[in-house]
Amino acid sequence: MNAGELKARHYRTGKPVCLRWAEGQITELSPCEACAPNLWVAPALVDLQVNGYAGIDFQRDAVTLEDLLTATRRLRADGCGRYLLTLITDDWLSLLARLRHYRQLRQQSAELQQAIAGWHVEGPFLSALPGFCGAHDPGRMIDPTPRHLHELRACTEGDRVLLTLAPERQQALDLIPEAIRLGLRVSLGHTNASADVLAEAVRRGARAFTHLGNGCPRDLDRHDNILWRVFDVQGLIVSLIPDTTHVSPALFRLVHRLIDPEAIYYTTDAMSAAGMPPGRYPLGRLQLEVGPDQIVRLPGTPNFAGSALRPIEGVLRAARMLSRTWREVWDHAALVPAKLMDLAHALEVGAPPEFCVLEFAESGELIQASCP
Ligand SMILES: [Zn+2]
Repeated sequence: MNAGELKARHYRTGKPVCLRWAEGQITELSPCEACAPNLWVAPALVDLQVNGYAGIDFQRDAVTLEDLLTATRRLRADGCGRYLLTLITDDWLSLLARLRHYRQLRQQSAELQQAIAGWHVEGPFLSALPGFCGAHDPGRMIDPTPRHLHELRACTEGDRVLLTLAPERQQALDLIPEAIRLGLRVSLGHTNASADVLAEAVRRGARAFTHLGNGCPRDLDRHDNILWRVFDVQGLIVSLIPDTTHVSPALFRLVHRLIDPEAIYYTTDAMSAAGMPPGRYPLGRLQLEVGPDQIVRLPGTPNFAGSALRPIEGVLRAARMLSRTWREVWDHAALVPAKLMDLAHALEVGAPPEFCVLEFAESGELIQASCP
Protein backbone atom coordinates (compact mmCIF):
# COMPACT_ATOMS: atom_id res chain seq x y z
CA MET A 1 0.00 0.00 0.00
CA ASN A 2 2.70 2.48 -0.97
CA ALA A 3 0.42 4.94 -2.71
CA GLY A 4 -3.16 5.05 -3.84
CA GLU A 5 -6.47 6.81 -4.03
CA LEU A 6 -9.97 5.96 -2.93
CA LYS A 7 -13.34 7.64 -3.27
CA ALA A 8 -15.89 6.61 -0.68
CA ARG A 9 -18.31 8.02 1.88
CA HIS A 10 -16.76 9.22 5.13
CA TYR A 11 -18.08 7.14 8.05
CA ARG A 12 -18.80 10.22 10.16
CA THR A 13 -20.27 12.73 7.72
CA GLY A 14 -21.70 10.33 5.12
CA LYS A 15 -20.25 12.71 2.47
CA PRO A 16 -18.10 11.50 -0.45
CA VAL A 17 -14.40 12.07 0.12
CA CYS A 18 -11.27 11.56 -1.87
CA LEU A 19 -8.57 9.85 0.15
CA ARG A 20 -5.01 9.79 -1.15
CA TRP A 21 -1.98 8.27 0.50
CA ALA A 22 1.71 7.84 -0.21
CA GLU A 23 4.77 6.63 1.67
CA GLY A 24 3.02 5.62 4.85
CA GLN A 25 0.86 8.71 5.24
CA ILE A 26 -2.54 10.01 4.29
CA THR A 27 -1.70 12.94 2.02
CA GLU A 28 -5.17 14.17 1.16
CA LEU A 29 -8.67 13.90 2.53
CA SER A 30 -10.96 16.24 0.65
CA PRO A 31 -14.61 16.43 -0.34
CA CYS A 32 -15.39 15.08 -3.78
CA GLU A 33 -18.40 15.29 -6.06
CA ALA A 34 -19.59 11.72 -5.95
CA CYS A 35 -18.64 8.14 -5.24
CA ALA A 36 -20.32 4.74 -5.24
CA PRO A 37 -23.22 5.22 -2.78
CA ASN A 38 -22.60 1.97 -0.91
CA LEU A 39 -18.87 2.34 -0.44
CA TRP A 40 -17.65 3.74 2.89
CA VAL A 41 -14.33 4.48 4.51
CA ALA A 42 -13.51 4.49 8.23
CA PRO A 43 -10.36 4.20 10.34
CA ALA A 44 -9.25 0.55 10.59
CA LEU A 45 -10.52 -1.33 13.61
CA VAL A 46 -7.99 -1.60 16.44
CA ASP A 47 -8.23 -4.67 18.67
CA LEU A 48 -6.27 -4.64 21.92
CA GLN A 49 -6.83 -8.30 22.74
CA VAL A 50 -6.14 -10.93 20.10
CA ASN A 51 -5.01 -14.34 21.40
CA GLY A 52 -5.02 -15.99 18.01
CA TYR A 53 -6.92 -15.91 14.74
CA ALA A 54 -7.83 -17.97 11.69
CA GLY A 55 -6.65 -21.24 13.19
CA ILE A 56 -3.37 -19.78 14.53
CA ASP A 57 -2.94 -19.93 18.32
CA PHE A 58 -0.56 -17.21 19.56
CA GLN A 59 -0.07 -19.12 22.84
CA ARG A 60 1.92 -21.79 21.03
CA ASP A 61 5.71 -21.65 20.83
CA ALA A 62 6.28 -22.62 17.24
CA VAL A 63 4.22 -19.99 15.41
CA THR A 64 6.02 -19.19 12.16
CA LEU A 65 6.32 -15.97 10.21
CA GLU A 66 3.92 -17.42 7.67
CA ASP A 67 1.38 -18.25 10.44
CA LEU A 68 1.58 -14.76 11.86
CA LEU A 69 1.13 -13.20 8.43
CA THR A 70 -1.87 -15.46 7.80
CA ALA A 71 -3.56 -14.43 11.07
CA THR A 72 -2.75 -10.75 10.45
CA ARG A 73 -4.08 -10.79 6.88
CA ARG A 74 -7.27 -12.53 7.97
CA LEU A 75 -7.72 -9.87 10.65
CA ARG A 76 -7.29 -7.19 7.97
CA ALA A 77 -9.85 -8.95 5.80
CA ASP A 78 -12.22 -8.72 8.78
CA GLY A 79 -11.68 -4.98 9.27
CA CYS A 80 -8.94 -4.96 11.90
CA GLY A 81 -5.76 -3.25 10.71
CA ARG A 82 -3.93 -2.99 14.03
CA TYR A 83 -3.89 -5.14 17.13
CA LEU A 84 -2.10 -6.03 20.31
CA LEU A 85 -0.88 -9.59 20.10
CA THR A 86 -2.02 -11.03 23.41
CA LEU A 87 -0.27 -13.58 25.59
CA ILE A 88 -2.10 -15.08 28.53
CA THR A 89 -0.97 -16.62 31.84
CA ASP A 90 1.89 -19.07 31.55
CA ASP A 91 5.20 -19.73 33.27
CA TRP A 92 6.83 -16.32 33.30
CA LEU A 93 9.95 -17.37 31.41
CA SER A 94 7.91 -19.19 28.74
CA LEU A 95 5.79 -16.09 28.32
CA LEU A 96 8.86 -13.88 27.90
CA ALA A 97 10.42 -16.33 25.45
CA ARG A 98 7.23 -16.24 23.39
CA LEU A 99 7.25 -12.45 23.42
CA ARG A 100 10.85 -12.41 22.20
CA HIS A 101 9.94 -14.83 19.44
CA TYR A 102 7.03 -12.66 18.25
CA ARG A 103 9.17 -9.52 18.33
CA GLN A 104 11.73 -11.27 16.21
CA LEU A 105 9.06 -12.36 13.71
CA ARG A 106 7.66 -8.85 13.60
CA GLN A 107 11.10 -7.42 12.86
CA GLN A 108 11.21 -9.44 9.67
CA SER A 109 8.13 -7.87 8.11
CA ALA A 110 7.08 -4.26 7.53
CA GLU A 111 3.51 -5.51 7.26
CA LEU A 112 3.65 -7.02 10.74
CA GLN A 113 5.35 -3.93 12.16
CA GLN A 114 2.43 -1.86 10.98
CA ALA A 115 -0.27 -4.29 12.11
CA ILE A 116 1.06 -5.45 15.48
CA ALA A 117 0.88 -2.23 17.45
CA GLY A 118 2.27 -3.85 20.59
CA TRP A 119 1.63 -6.56 23.13
CA HIS A 120 -1.07 -7.29 25.65
CA VAL A 121 0.26 -9.35 28.55
CA GLU A 122 -2.80 -10.74 30.32
CA GLY A 123 -1.43 -12.59 33.32
CA PRO A 124 0.12 -14.21 35.23
CA PHE A 125 -0.57 -11.55 37.91
CA LEU A 126 -4.31 -12.30 38.05
CA SER A 127 -6.82 -13.58 40.57
CA ALA A 128 -6.61 -17.36 40.95
CA LEU A 129 -10.08 -17.52 42.51
CA PRO A 130 -12.62 -19.79 40.74
CA GLY A 131 -14.46 -17.85 38.05
CA PHE A 132 -12.14 -14.85 38.26
CA CYS A 133 -9.30 -16.85 36.73
CA GLY A 134 -11.39 -17.52 33.60
CA ALA A 135 -9.60 -19.87 31.22
CA HIS A 136 -6.22 -18.97 32.73
CA ASP A 137 -4.34 -21.62 34.70
CA PRO A 138 -4.54 -20.54 38.37
CA GLY A 139 -1.57 -22.79 39.16
CA ARG A 140 0.65 -20.55 37.05
CA MET A 141 -0.46 -17.25 38.56
CA ILE A 142 2.04 -15.34 40.68
CA ASP A 143 2.47 -12.03 42.48
CA PRO A 144 4.26 -9.34 40.48
CA THR A 145 7.68 -8.11 41.60
CA PRO A 146 9.88 -5.24 40.35
CA ARG A 147 12.01 -7.87 38.61
CA HIS A 148 9.03 -9.01 36.52
CA LEU A 149 8.30 -5.49 35.37
CA HIS A 150 11.90 -4.79 34.45
CA GLU A 151 12.19 -8.09 32.59
CA LEU A 152 9.00 -7.32 30.67
CA ARG A 153 10.30 -3.86 29.78
CA ALA A 154 13.73 -5.16 28.77
CA CYS A 155 12.14 -7.86 26.62
CA THR A 156 9.82 -5.47 24.80
CA GLU A 157 12.19 -2.45 24.70
CA GLY A 158 10.16 0.62 23.70
CA ASP A 159 7.11 -1.25 22.37
CA ARG A 160 3.58 -0.51 23.51
CA VAL A 161 2.56 -2.94 26.24
CA LEU A 162 -0.79 -3.31 27.91
CA LEU A 163 -0.46 -5.25 31.16
CA THR A 164 -3.62 -6.68 32.68
CA LEU A 165 -3.28 -7.44 36.37
CA ALA A 166 -5.39 -7.99 39.47
CA PRO A 167 -4.55 -5.16 41.88
CA GLU A 168 -5.34 -7.24 44.96
CA ARG A 169 -2.31 -9.44 44.35
CA GLN A 170 0.57 -8.91 46.81
CA GLN A 171 2.63 -5.83 45.85
CA ALA A 172 0.52 -5.13 42.76
CA LEU A 173 -0.70 -1.73 43.99
CA ASP A 174 2.84 -0.68 44.93
CA LEU A 175 4.12 -1.69 41.50
CA ILE A 176 1.58 0.18 39.38
CA PRO A 177 3.53 3.50 39.52
CA GLU A 178 6.71 1.64 38.59
CA ALA A 179 4.94 0.01 35.63
CA ILE A 180 3.76 3.44 34.48
CA ARG A 181 7.24 4.88 34.92
CA LEU A 182 8.54 2.10 32.66
CA GLY A 183 5.98 3.09 30.02
CA LEU A 184 3.62 0.13 30.45
CA ARG A 185 -0.17 0.72 30.34
CA VAL A 186 -1.89 -0.97 33.26
CA SER A 187 -5.35 -2.45 32.89
CA LEU A 188 -7.20 -4.19 35.72
CA GLY A 189 -8.89 -7.48 35.05
CA HIS A 190 -9.56 -11.03 36.22
CA THR A 191 -9.91 -9.36 39.60
CA ASN A 192 -12.15 -9.37 42.63
CA ALA A 193 -10.54 -6.27 44.15
CA SER A 194 -12.47 -4.25 46.71
CA ALA A 195 -13.78 -0.80 45.83
CA ASP A 196 -10.94 0.76 47.84
CA VAL A 197 -8.26 -1.24 46.05
CA LEU A 198 -9.75 -0.42 42.64
CA ALA A 199 -9.84 3.28 43.45
CA GLU A 200 -6.28 3.17 44.74
CA ALA A 201 -5.13 1.35 41.59
CA VAL A 202 -6.64 4.15 39.49
CA ARG A 203 -5.05 6.79 41.71
CA ARG A 204 -1.68 5.10 41.15
CA GLY A 205 -2.05 5.09 37.37
CA ALA A 206 -4.14 2.13 36.20
CA ARG A 207 -6.05 3.32 33.15
CA ALA A 208 -8.30 0.53 31.95
CA PHE A 209 -10.41 -2.46 32.85
CA THR A 210 -10.11 -5.61 30.73
CA HIS A 211 -13.30 -7.22 29.32
CA LEU A 212 -15.79 -6.00 31.91
CA GLY A 213 -18.46 -8.61 32.60
CA ASN A 214 -15.99 -11.44 32.00
CA GLY A 215 -13.10 -12.81 34.01
CA CYS A 216 -15.57 -13.18 36.87
CA PRO A 217 -17.93 -15.96 38.04
CA ARG A 218 -21.32 -16.38 36.39
CA ASP A 219 -23.01 -15.93 39.79
CA LEU A 220 -22.25 -12.75 41.69
CA ASP A 221 -23.43 -11.20 44.95
CA ARG A 222 -26.31 -8.90 44.08
CA HIS A 223 -25.25 -6.26 46.64
CA ASP A 224 -21.55 -6.09 46.05
CA ASN A 225 -19.67 -7.44 43.06
CA ILE A 226 -16.90 -6.48 40.69
CA LEU A 227 -19.32 -4.98 38.15
CA TRP A 228 -20.94 -2.59 40.61
CA ARG A 229 -17.52 -1.62 41.95
CA VAL A 230 -16.17 -0.82 38.49
CA PHE A 231 -19.28 1.25 37.65
CA ASP A 232 -18.67 3.18 40.85
CA VAL A 233 -15.00 3.93 40.19
CA GLN A 234 -14.14 6.98 38.11
CA GLY A 235 -11.40 7.08 35.55
CA LEU A 236 -11.26 3.61 33.99
CA ILE A 237 -11.60 2.91 30.27
CA VAL A 238 -13.44 -0.40 30.06
CA SER A 239 -13.38 -2.98 27.32
CA LEU A 240 -16.37 -5.08 26.31
CA ILE A 241 -16.64 -8.15 24.11
CA PRO A 242 -19.62 -7.22 21.88
CA ASP A 243 -20.68 -10.69 20.76
CA THR A 244 -24.05 -10.61 22.66
CA THR A 245 -23.05 -13.54 24.91
CA HIS A 246 -19.94 -12.49 26.82
CA VAL A 247 -21.96 -9.45 27.85
CA SER A 248 -25.74 -9.74 27.63
CA PRO A 249 -27.47 -7.13 25.45
CA ALA A 250 -29.13 -5.59 28.53
CA LEU A 251 -25.86 -5.23 30.41
CA PHE A 252 -24.18 -3.97 27.23
CA ARG A 253 -26.77 -1.18 26.96
CA LEU A 254 -26.48 -0.36 30.66
CA VAL A 255 -22.72 0.00 30.41
CA HIS A 256 -23.25 2.52 27.59
CA ARG A 257 -25.65 4.50 29.75
CA LEU A 258 -23.44 4.46 32.82
CA ILE A 259 -20.01 5.04 31.35
CA ASP A 260 -18.73 7.93 29.23
CA PRO A 261 -18.65 6.81 25.56
CA GLU A 262 -15.02 7.90 25.31
CA ALA A 263 -14.23 5.35 28.03
CA ILE A 264 -15.70 2.27 26.33
CA TYR A 265 -13.79 0.24 23.81
CA TYR A 266 -14.57 -3.06 22.18
CA THR A 267 -12.32 -6.06 21.83
CA THR A 268 -12.94 -9.48 20.33
CA ASP A 269 -10.64 -11.30 22.81
CA ALA A 270 -10.39 -13.58 19.77
CA MET A 271 -8.69 -16.95 19.97
CA SER A 272 -7.57 -19.24 17.18
CA ALA A 273 -11.12 -20.28 16.24
CA ALA A 274 -12.06 -16.75 15.17
CA GLY A 275 -12.86 -16.69 11.48
CA MET A 276 -13.03 -20.51 11.40
CA PRO A 277 -15.88 -23.07 11.29
CA PRO A 278 -17.14 -24.78 14.50
CA GLY A 279 -14.80 -27.38 15.99
CA ARG A 280 -12.06 -27.84 18.59
CA TYR A 281 -9.27 -25.29 18.75
CA PRO A 282 -6.26 -24.78 21.02
CA LEU A 283 -5.70 -21.90 23.44
CA GLY A 284 -2.30 -22.61 24.95
CA ARG A 285 -2.60 -25.92 26.80
CA LEU A 286 -6.39 -26.02 26.53
CA GLN A 287 -8.53 -27.55 23.82
CA LEU A 288 -11.64 -25.43 23.48
CA GLU A 289 -14.89 -26.15 21.75
CA VAL A 290 -16.57 -23.74 19.37
CA GLY A 291 -20.23 -24.43 18.61
CA PRO A 292 -22.36 -23.24 15.70
CA ASP A 293 -23.17 -20.22 17.93
CA GLN A 294 -19.46 -19.22 17.65
CA ILE A 295 -19.14 -19.30 21.44
CA VAL A 296 -15.92 -20.72 22.79
CA ARG A 297 -16.37 -23.05 25.75
CA LEU A 298 -14.17 -25.15 27.96
CA PRO A 299 -15.62 -28.61 27.13
CA GLY A 300 -17.89 -29.86 29.90
CA THR A 301 -18.25 -26.43 31.56
CA PRO A 302 -20.51 -23.43 30.98
CA ASN A 303 -17.48 -21.10 31.06
CA PHE A 304 -16.62 -18.96 28.08
CA ALA A 305 -12.99 -18.79 27.09
CA GLY A 306 -12.01 -16.10 24.63
CA SER A 307 -14.25 -15.64 21.64
CA ALA A 308 -14.49 -16.62 18.00
CA LEU A 309 -15.78 -13.18 17.12
CA ARG A 310 -14.53 -11.42 14.00
CA PRO A 311 -13.80 -7.70 14.60
CA ILE A 312 -16.29 -6.40 12.02
CA GLU A 313 -18.97 -8.75 13.32
CA GLY A 314 -18.42 -7.29 16.80
CA VAL A 315 -19.18 -3.80 15.49
CA LEU A 316 -22.36 -4.98 13.77
CA ARG A 317 -23.57 -6.82 16.89
CA ALA A 318 -22.78 -3.83 19.12
CA ALA A 319 -24.81 -1.59 16.80
CA ARG A 320 -27.73 -4.03 16.90
CA MET A 321 -27.65 -4.29 20.70
CA LEU A 322 -27.69 -0.50 21.03
CA SER A 323 -30.16 0.13 18.16
CA ARG A 324 -27.57 2.37 16.56
CA THR A 325 -25.87 2.36 13.19
CA TRP A 326 -22.45 0.82 12.65
CA ARG A 327 -21.16 4.36 12.08
CA GLU A 328 -22.25 5.47 15.55
CA VAL A 329 -20.41 2.67 17.36
CA TRP A 330 -17.35 2.46 15.10
CA ASP A 331 -15.05 4.60 17.23
CA HIS A 332 -15.43 2.23 20.19
CA ALA A 333 -13.55 -0.32 18.14
CA ALA A 334 -11.12 2.06 16.47
CA LEU A 335 -10.28 5.46 17.94
CA VAL A 336 -10.94 4.75 21.64
CA PRO A 337 -8.62 1.72 21.87
CA ALA A 338 -6.03 3.52 19.71
CA LYS A 339 -6.08 6.48 22.10
CA LEU A 340 -5.64 4.24 25.13
CA MET A 341 -2.41 2.95 23.57
CA ASP A 342 -1.29 6.38 22.25
CA LEU A 343 -1.51 5.12 18.72
CA ALA A 344 -1.71 7.79 16.01
CA HIS A 345 -4.82 6.56 14.29
CA ALA A 346 -7.40 8.67 12.52
CA LEU A 347 -8.75 9.47 9.11
CA GLU A 348 -6.71 12.62 8.69
CA VAL A 349 -3.82 13.98 6.70
CA GLY A 350 -0.51 12.92 8.20
CA ALA A 351 -1.87 9.80 9.90
CA PRO A 352 -0.86 6.33 8.70
CA PRO A 353 -3.11 5.05 5.88
CA GLU A 354 -4.79 2.49 8.10
CA PHE A 355 -8.39 2.45 7.03
CA CYS A 356 -11.23 0.06 6.43
CA VAL A 357 -13.32 0.03 3.26
CA LEU A 358 -16.90 -1.13 3.73
CA GLU A 359 -19.13 -2.20 0.90
CA PHE A 360 -22.86 -2.66 1.39
CA ALA A 361 -25.50 -4.28 -0.81
CA GLU A 362 -28.57 -2.29 -1.93
CA SER A 363 -30.46 -4.08 0.86
CA GLY A 364 -28.12 -2.50 3.41
CA GLU A 365 -26.39 -5.78 4.19
CA LEU A 366 -22.64 -5.62 4.60
CA ILE A 367 -20.82 -7.38 1.77
CA GLN A 368 -17.34 -6.83 3.07
CA ALA A 369 -15.26 -4.66 5.38
CA SER A 370 -11.55 -5.00 4.91
CA CYS A 371 -8.34 -3.06 5.29
CA PRO A 372 -6.69 -2.90 1.86
ZN1 LIG B 1 -9.30 -12.54 30.00
